[in-house]
Amino acid sequence: MTPEFPQTGNTPALDRRKILRYAALGAMAVPAGAVLLDGSGARAAATGTTDGLPDYAPIPPDALGPALNANGYYVGQIGENLFWVTDSIYQTMFLTTRKGVVLVDAPPGIGHNLMRAIEDVTRANGRPSRVTHIIYSHYHADHISAAGLFSRVERIAHAETRSLLKFANDPNRPLPTTTFEDRLVLEVGGERLELAHHGPNHSPDNIFIYAPEYRTLMVADVLFPGWTPFLNLAVAQNIPAWIHAQDVAMSYPWKTLVGGHIGRLGTREDGELQRRYIADLQASARAVLDTLDITPYYLRYGTQGNPWGMVNEYFKEAVRQTSAPVVAKYTGKLAGVDVFTESHALVLFESLRIDWGVLRPLGIHP
Ligand SMILES: [Zn+2]
Repeated sequence: MTPEFPQTGNTPALDRRKILRYAALGAMAVPAGAVLLDGSGARAAATGTTDGLPDYAPIPPDALGPALNANGYYVGQIGENLFWVTDSIYQTMFLTTRKGVVLVDAPPGIGHNLMRAIEDVTRANGRPSRVTHIIYSHYHADHISAAGLFSRVERIAHAETRSLLKFANDPNRPLPTTTFEDRLVLEVGGERLELAHHGPNHSPDNIFIYAPEYRTLMVADVLFPGWTPFLNLAVAQNIPAWIHAQDVAMSYPWKTLVGGHIGRLGTREDGELQRRYIADLQASARAVLDTLDITPYYLRYGTQGNPWGMVNEYFKEAVRQTSAPVVAKYTGKLAGVDVFTESHALVLFESLRIDWGVLRPLGIHP
């Protein structure tokens, strides 16, 4: 999908911790077209280990991105002047313009490799390598706390990002220099990005960054191409709005998605698959809310004056019943469903109750 790009290959002095980390990341990425992990392959080799840790379902090969270079990153071209960079866990994009580089986010996990990736690209295309603008997708440290590595830069973010960062008072996340409320069009050196805030979702300030000329959308922590979302519906701070944000993302006419996480770009089919998975999970949680009897938990714990015990055991069973059919349906289609579906089920179940008001056995007393 993306042409091979000359990567910085020389490995500077690496400490042992870094080598181990890179080895682990390298194991996550496969070269395009490689056939791996058919259930009897690399993951299966981990079975029988004595560390006491569980084995998870094999990762579908389609979920994995391109192999990383010796420095632990991959940089690829999305369109003429638009590029993306990943460490297999985080990803971001940047534009090379006639006046300098516009970088979106600065994930600390990619860290100094951001500059290496930018130099790989600008050395080849002859455009200036200095980063002149950084756009913050949202205030979370795991996506922007390498921003302090770049000086003399215009930092653009939602107004709420500024408030949240002021409160955080984190030197690794310098305050934005330019903020907006609803929309902002950024034009730099012949390139254009359209920034929009469609309300709170994953975080109160999470924005959509669209490159119309490349039909590429970046939105962090909403769609996870090839994978189930990260823990607890990507730790969404507003569950109904996060679910709606999937639809907002799909309403843009993009062909390529930069999702902020994992090692590959997204397609529209990836977005549709996640929407079906979340809709199935929501329907399953709703069915369990309608049918799961709380009486045994009341008799066992409620009558002992322990409502927390009652609700905890009721929720545990609800999570089990909600997740099981969905995990069975999507194993092999989405990576990590056996890892995080139960966490999604818990937050969805509780959100159905308190956000949507489907209280069922814990509703209005007769
Ligand atoms: Zn986040």
